Amino acid sequence: MKEMFINTAELTGQTEQHITYVNEHIGIHNLLVAPFEKMQQAALEDGISIDIASGFRSFARQQLIFDRKMQGSANVLDINNEVVDLSKLAVADKINSILLYSALPGASRHHWGTDIDVYSKSLMKGKSLALEAWEYEANGPLAPLTEWLDDNMQQFGFYRPYDKYRGGVAAEPWHLSYQPLASMFSEQYSQEVLAQCIQNSDMVGKEQVLTMLDTIYCQYVTNVGAA
Ligand SMILES: [Zn+2]
Repeated sequence: MKEMFINTAELTGQTEQHITYVNEHIGIHNLLVAPFEKMQQAALEDGISIDIASGFRSFARQQLIFDRKMQGSANVLDINNEVVDLSKLAVADKINSILLYSALPGASRHHWGTDIDVYSKSLMKGKSLALEAWEYEANGPLAPLTEWLDDNMQQFGFYRPYDKYRGGVAAEPWHLSYQPLASMFSEQYSQEVLAQCIQNSDMVGKEQVLTMLDTIYCQYVTNVGAA
């Protein structure tokens, strides 16, 4: 893929100019539509449907998720999927608890449109998706999807940046990244871009987040698996 300049708004989810909507709710990067459909088609020929649960997410949407967790109006789960009692935690610990499963606004790879959360509607057989790791593991309903992706996604340019827990973001077997595009975003993204973005926002816990930014950047943003 040809090297291209990516502006700050695209890096931090503050524009949709790089996004194409593949249905009413799901947007992905303009240049991801064709490669994704190619992989989807190949999977279908092997009897596996690949559906997108989540694609592009704006800064505003990510801020809403983060703010609600900071304010205690949405559940925060620990690594064992148990609800954390945030009221007992200091602000810094609260922020770290949230970042296990939810990216800091401005630092989500979903802002880029290069990353998607996938599942398989047909394999779920009418059950609703919790987006929890057990669903993707052996004996889980989505195990055949995991197996197909393990064997084939690489040849279509996809990989899992959250393949395992590295002390930052929890393992997310559903989260795929399209390497040719994502690597360009990742090269042009920086802590300065993120700092500026948070500085300009009115997110809950903003001052605390800014003081923790060096650690947050190393622990959650760059601490990911390679393609
Ligand atoms: Zn994701």
